[in-house]
Amino acid sequence: MKSFEKADVVICGAGSAGVAAAYYLAKSGINNVLIIDKNPPLSQTSAKSGENYRNWWPNNTMAHFMDRSIDLMQDLARATDNAFNMEQRGYLYITRKPAHELQSYIDHYSQLDVGGIRVHDDGKVRGAEHYAHPASRGYEGDLDGADLLADSQIIQKSFPHLSANIETAVHARRAGSISAQQLGMYLLEEARKLGVRLLVGDVTDVEVDNQGVYAVEIVIDGTQHRIQTRSFINAAGPFSPEIASLLGVELPVFSVLQQKIAIQDIHGVIPREAPFTIIMDEQYLDWDEQEKADLGSDTELQWLLKKFPGGLHIKPEGGKDSPWIKLGWAINRVAEDPVWEPEMTPEFPEIVLRGAAKFIPGLRPYLEKLPKPVVRYAGYYTKTKENMPIIGPMGVDGAYMLGALSGFGTMASCAAGELVAAWIAGNDLPGYARELSLERYDSTTSTETSTGLNHNGEL
Ligand SMILES: Cc1cc2nc3c(=O)[nH]c(=O)nc-3n(C[C@H](O)[C@H](O)[C@H](O)COP(=O)(O)OP(=O)(O)OC[C@H]3O[C@@H](n4cnc5c(N)ncnc54)[C@H](O)[C@@H]3O)c2cc1C
Repeated sequence: MKSFEKADVVICGAGSAGVAAAYYLAKSGINNVLIIDKNPPLSQTSAKSGENYRNWWPNNTMAHFMDRSIDLMQDLARATDNAFNMEQRGYLYITRKPAHELQSYIDHYSQLDVGGIRVHDDGKVRGAEHYAHPASRGYEGDLDGADLLADSQIIQKSFPHLSANIETAVHARRAGSISAQQLGMYLLEEARKLGVRLLVGDVTDVEVDNQGVYAVEIVIDGTQHRIQTRSFINAAGPFSPEIASLLGVELPVFSVLQQKIAIQDIHGVIPREAPFTIIMDEQYLDWDEQEKADLGSDTELQWLLKKFPGGLHIKPEGGKDSPWIKLGWAINRVAEDPVWEPEMTPEFPEIVLRGAAKFIPGLRPYLEKLPKPVVRYAGYYTKTKENMPIIGPMGVDGAYMLGALSGFGTMASCAAGELVAAWIAGNDLPGYARELSLERYDSTTSTETSTGLNHNGEL
C-alpha cells in the first residue's frame, strides 16, 4: 500500500453536494481539499435532476434553509452573468378541488416564513398585487409567497392549456429552475482555482485512531492509497449508508428510484413561458374497457389500475425556441438497495403522459403517437423518512455527513455545502443547523408536518 499525501479535508463524492462543499470550504480558507469520486463529477444522481428550486416548504427549517440556498444562488448568478440559467418562474400547483378544500394547506403555509399568500377570486384580489403572468423575472425575481388562484376562469385566462376543470392553483413565487450541471461545474472550477483537487478513485475505507478520523483509503487504477486527513465528508449520494458503515455508523436513510422523461412537444401544447406545474390530485389512469380487462388479468400489470399519487409534474425545458418538455412523477414508494445502473420501468413514459393528459388535454395526441426520441432519466431520492437532509457531524470525530438530499439536492447544494463547511471550519452555524444534523434524532420534537396534500414537502 502506498501512503501518499495529506489533505485538510477529504470529500467522498463529486456530485452537486460534494463540489459545493469543496467550494465553500475553499472560500472559508480551507483549500487543501481533496474530492474523490469513482465517476466523473456530477454524473450520477446529480445528472438526473429536474433542476427546479423553491422556498415553498412545509416547515420553517426547510424554508429557511432553501431561502439561504436561493440567496446564495442569486449571488452566484449575479457574479457570473447568470452562467447557470437561474430563472424565477415559480411552481404552479394545480388541483380540481375547490379552494375551500385546500383551506388547511393554505392555513398551514400562511404560518410559515415563505412569504405572503395573495388570494385571487372572481377577478377581485385580496392581498398585495394583481396576479400577473407570464411571471418570469430572471434570477432577480423579487416576489415570494404565493398567489392563490381560487377561480377556474382566472386559471384559464392565464394558463389556457390546462383543463377547464382545474378549480384552484397555487403559484409559489420564490421558485424556478437552474442548470445543475452548469452550477456544479462553476463551483468545481472555482474551487480548483482556490486549490481544491479532484481524484478519480474508489473510497474503500476510513481509518480512525483515538482522536477520530485518521486516514482515507482509496483505490486508483487497482492500486490502494492512503490519504491522511482529520476531516472526512461523506457526500456519496445513494451510497452514503455504505460509506457511513465503514465508520460503523448506521444512517436513517433509504433510497427510492424515481424517473423522468423528456420529449419534443411537436404540437406546442405547453407554452414556453409556463411555470413548473405540479398536479396535486391523486388519480386513476384512463383506460378503455378492453384495456382495463387486459390489465386486470395480467398480474404483472394490474398495478396500472391502482390509484396513483399526486405530484405529477411538467415543464418546458430549454429556452423559448426549444421544443422539449420534461415530465416526472414520483410514483415509486418502494425503498431499494441502490445500484449504479438502475433499471427503468418500461411503462413509465406512457404512465406519466396518460396522467398528464387528464389535466392538459392537448397532450392526448401524444398517447396515440409518442414523439421520438423519448429521453429517460432514473435516479434515487436518497432520503430520511421526514424528507430532510443530514448535514453535520456523523458521530465519529472528524467525520461529517452531507446527504439525504432526496428530490431537492440541486436547489439545496449551495446552502448544504456552506453548512458542512461551517461545521468543519468552526464558523457560526445558522439557526437550521441542528435540525438538519443527526442531532435532531436525539430530541423528542418532531419536525414532521402534516398538511394532507403535502405532508413532507416532496411535492
Ligand atoms: C429523477 C430526479 C429528479 C430530481 N429533481 C430535482 C429537482 O428538480 N430539484 C432538486 O433540487 N433536486 C432534484 N433531484 C435531487 C438531486 O438530483 C439530488 O438530491 C442530488 O443530485 C444529490 O447529489 P449528491 O451529490 O448527494 O449525490 P450524487 O450526485 O449521487 O453524487 C454522489 C457521488 O458519490 C460518488 N461515490 C459514491 N460512492 C463512492 C465511493 N465509494 N468512492 C468514490 N466515489 C463514490 C458517486 O460516484 C457520485 O458521483 C432529483 C433527483 C432525481 C433522481
